[in-house]
Amino acid sequence: NSSLHEVDPDVAAAVDAELRRQQSTLEMIASENFAPVAALEAQGSVLTNKYAEGYPGRRYYGGCEHVDVIETIARDRVKELFGAEAANVQPHSGASANAAAMFALIKPGDTILGLDLAHGGHLTHGMKINFSGKLYNVVPYHVDEKTGLVDMEEVARLAREHRPQLVIAGWSAYPRQLDFAAFRQIADEVGALLMVDMAHFAGLVAAGLHPNPVPHADVVTTTTHKTLGGPRGGVILSKQELAKKINSAVFPGQQGGPLEHVIAAKAVSFKIAASDEFRDRQQRTLDGARVLAERLLRSDVTEHGVSVLSGGTDVHLVLVDLRDSDLDGQQAEDRLHEVGITVNRNAVPNDPRPPMVTSGLRIGTPALATRGFQADDFREVADIIAEALKPSPDTAALAARVTALAEKYPLYPGL
Ligand code: PLP
Repeated sequence: NSSLHEVDPDVAAAVDAELRRQQSTLEMIASENFAPVAALEAQGSVLTNKYAEGYPGRRYYGGCEHVDVIETIARDRVKELFGAEAANVQPHSGASANAAAMFALIKPGDTILGLDLAHGGHLTHGMKINFSGKLYNVVPYHVDEKTGLVDMEEVARLAREHRPQLVIAGWSAYPRQLDFAAFRQIADEVGALLMVDMAHFAGLVAAGLHPNPVPHADVVTTTTHKTLGGPRGGVILSKQELAKKINSAVFPGQQGGPLEHVIAAKAVSFKIAASDEFRDRQQRTLDGARVLAERLLRSDVTEHGVSVLSGGTDVHLVLVDLRDSDLDGQQAEDRLHEVGITVNRNAVPNDPRPPMVTSGLRIGTPALATRGFQADDFREVADIIAEALKPSPDTAALAARVTALAEKYPLYPGL
C-alpha cells in the first residue's frame, strides 16, 4: 500500500515535474487538454485491475457487475451527447477506433478516400506506412492552394474516378468546418460508406457550436482527450444496424480487455460535456482561436503580419504559415518553447521544407480555455506569440508575461 513516492521516487519525481510543467507553461498543442480531477480519479482507480472482455451483460469474465454499470453509463451518455443510435466506448485510442471502424466497414484492398496527411489529414486516413496505407488502396484529396479549403470538386471527381468503398472526412490540422452533407452526397453517388473522424472538434459538436456529423455519416469516430477534454481514448458512434459489426471489430477484432478505468473517466467527461459550463468553455475556445488569428494577421511581425492558413479559423486552432518567413517550423516551435508556450510545428500544404522541420505551426486554444482564459487573455497570448516570432525578441520579458498568465489561472491547485 505504499505510495508512488515511496515505491518509485524516480518515476514520482518525473510525474511531479510534468505537473509543474503543465502548471507553469501555456499549453497550446491543439490536440491536448486538461482532464478534470474527477476523470483523473476514475482513471487512477481499482478499475485498472479488472478484465472485462466482451460487452455489458455478455462478458467472458466473472465479476463484471460493476464495470457493466460504468460502461453502460458511458455508452448511454455519449449516445445522448451526440444523438447517435449506437456507441462503442472501448477503443483504446483514436487510431484504434479508426482501425476498428475500417475493419468493420471495408476489406483489405478496398479503396478509401481521405484528406492527405500533408494537407491536414491524420495518419489513419491513408498514410503510406500506417495500417490504413498498407491495407487499403488510398486516394488522397487535398485543400485548394488559394483558399486553403478542402477542394470538394476534387473529392467528387476522385470519387467518380476511383469508386471508393469508404470516404473519410475529418482532419488533424484544418482551421475550418467540413460540409458533411456534401460528403454524404458524394459518398451516396458512388455507393461508398461515409466515416467522419471528429477527433479534433468533438467538444465543439457536443457544445452545439459546430455542425454534428452524426446524422450524415454511417460511422463517426472520435478521441475523448482533445476538445472533449476527457481521458486519452477513442469512441465509435454508428447507426444501430452497424453496431454488431463494429462491436465485433473492436473486440475480438482489434483489442482484448477493455480499459474500464479509462471508460469510467470517459463517462465522467461525457457528463461534464453536457453541462452549461462546458458550453461556455467551448465558446471561449472558439473566441480565443479567432482572437489569435486576427491578432497574428494584424501584428507587425512583417508588414503583412503573420500569415495564417485560410485567413482565419472557425474552430479551436490556427495554422501559422511560415513559408515566407526566415524562421522555419522547428525554430518557431523552439522560440515559443523558450518563452513557455508549447505548440507543435506542422507541415503546411505544399511545404517546401522537410517534414521534420516544416513551415508551419499549429496553435490551439482548448487547454487554455479549460484553464479559464477569456478573450482578453487570448489577446495577450497572441501578442506574446507575435513578439516571440520577431527577430531577436526579449525572451526573458516574454517568459515573465507567460508566467503572469499561468499564475492568473492556477491549474490543478489541489494536486
Ligand atoms: N484522428 C484524428 C483526426 C486525430 O487528429 C488523431 C490524433 O491526433 C487521431 C485520430 C488518433 O488519436 P490517438 O492519438 O488517440 O490514437
